[in-house]
Amino acid sequence: MNDLIQKTAQDLAGAKNVVALTGAGISVESGIPPFRGPGGLWEKIDPLEFAHIDAFMKDPAKVWNFFIKEMKEILDNAGPNDAHKSLARLEELGIVTTIITQNVDGLHQIAGNTDVIEFHGNFAWQRCLDCDERFETVRLDISQIPPRCSCGGIYKPDCVFFGEIIPPHHLLRSEQVASTCTIMLVIGTSAEVHPAALMPVIAKQAGATVIEINLEKTSLTQKTSDYIIMGKAGEIMKRLTSEVERLL
Ligand code: NAD
Ligand code: ZN
Repeated sequence: MNDLIQKTAQDLAGAKNVVALTGAGISVESGIPPFRGPGGLWEKIDPLEFAHIDAFMKDPAKVWNFFIKEMKEILDNAGPNDAHKSLARLEELGIVTTIITQNVDGLHQIAGNTDVIEFHGNFAWQRCLDCDERFETVRLDISQIPPRCSCGGIYKPDCVFFGEIIPPHHLLRSEQVASTCTIMLVIGTSAEVHPAALMPVIAKQAGATVIEINLEKTSLTQKTSDYIIMGKAGEIMKRLTSEVERLL
């Protein structure tokens, strides 16, 4: 693993147009459980069921009670970890340009990255199903479930639920940065959710080096990525960034 960190640091130190694709795994060390894998909320419920738009429209109170309320509690209290901070540092150094994230926790922006494509939206905002007004999640009164807008409409987190389409401008921009980057870091994503999982494939086909950082191998590992650095995102990114700083 030390060799791989060294090799990646050398590649990054000379690179300019580096893009990171991040998934739930990058925020695990911030205390936010991923959908797949051990631990927390998602072992108790089926996220595919509760995070599906049809489930929300059918019974918003049930989805608020068993899924969104707990998610709000977790996200309200989470902060960036070493992996988010390292990506912000790599942007400061002029190496990382853009982050494409599947996460809805907003931690990349809090850490300091300025160009973040939020593929699946952001949980920090709610949207009224009737009048379309947006309202900040931290200011939301959840003593009544489901929470309602002043017009009486139900609030839905301003995120892309399963069964909803990715906003086309996010998809277009992601494809554009994926096809023009020189290195893509794929951090903490199982690469099971499409079309986000296609971005490393687009990058690879356009000639980029694709490097995964994950606790375990994924469907990208054999076919798409050049190599995988196995371990915790926070620990690896911190070591990697210190090594890059030493080389510059
Ligand atoms: P996922 O839950 O499918 O997979 C998480 C991946 O992270 C796995 O491959 C796992 O091996 C890896 N991982 C776990 N802990 C890690 C660590 N400490 N370091 C490195 N890797 C680690 O996540 P996904 O692929 O992002 O897709 C699930 C969907 O769920 C996404 O679309 C996302 O919108 C949503 N989601 C978001 C959040 C969040 O905003 N933080 C949390 C859960 C789910
Ligand atoms: Zn309203």
